[in-house]
Amino acid sequence: MRNPEATQVSLSRRQLVLGASSLAALPLVGGYARAAPAHTFKQGAFDITVISDGFLTLPISIVAPEASPQEQADILRRLGGSADTVQPRANIPLIRSGQDLILVDNGSGDKFQPTAGRLSANLAAAGIDPASVTKVVCTHAHPDHIGGTLAPGVGLMFPNATYFVSAAEWQFWMDPNYRTTMPDVLHEFARGAQRDLSAVKDRVTLVKPGDDIVTGLRVLDTAGHTPGHISLELAGGDGLIITGDAAINPIVSFEHPGWKFGFDMQHDVAIANRKALLERAATDKIKLLGFHWTDPGVGYAERKDIVYRFVPAA
Ligand SMILES: [Zn+2]
Repeated sequence: MRNPEATQVSLSRRQLVLGASSLAALPLVGGYARAAPAHTFKQGAFDITVISDGFLTLPISIVAPEASPQEQADILRRLGGSADTVQPRANIPLIRSGQDLILVDNGSGDKFQPTAGRLSANLAAAGIDPASVTKVVCTHAHPDHIGGTLAPGVGLMFPNATYFVSAAEWQFWMDPNYRTTMPDVLHEFARGAQRDLSAVKDRVTLVKPGDDIVTGLRVLDTAGHTPGHISLELAGGDGLIITGDAAINPIVSFEHPGWKFGFDMQHDVAIANRKALLERAATDKIKLLGFHWTDPGVGYAERKDIVYRFVPAA
């Protein structure tokens, strides 16, 4: 097996089914039945708009598998989840840079949970034509991040965009022998990743940490959640890091950065990169934008004892 640590993935079909079935018990959350308002701010020369793709439902056993029952109950209470699930948001940054309109990930589309996939509706509500998006950067190839590549019956959701995917991520998911090199639990993700990555293969640029997407927008290595997971660092002021899934949750990842997250594929690598990211962000007061944090997902890591706490941006 190319990646022995992949066997540590604690995702199971049963847990996913449980997560999905609990959706039926959820009331329709007000703002998500309609278009969610976009959140905008400036970062140096960049104009950032955070567009919601909706939200997911995950069992607490995935989000904080190492927490005690009491700690899990406390986290659920603070996150406002149900008895055993949390509803991570899906915050998609849209970056305007000169003539470029750059999307970071394209959401779930119709490929994952039914409460996500709201990107196109929320882009429309913000007056943004999908055809005007010039670049899509993929933090990693999980279905809630690239499931919006293809629109049903339409083809590419962003027909004029070039794509940027980390070379390591491409190599991992596009393995033609995935049925034998990956554990069974990853096969469905691999099929989805191959469908979406193949759809952009003639318009993709494979990137590595240190590369620039455009001037001032740099690829940062935050592997571990997936083998080729990347974050993006934006120049200007004290800086901004778009973290993708390197720090999945504003409570768990900040206050317990050493805990495993159920969907991380290489736990040791993920934990080391998460700690390094938060340490640097806290020391240098770098603004952070997290994909699954309470929307709009923008804030800071503040050092608290030997760990951190998430402080939303004013
Ligand atoms: Zn995700």
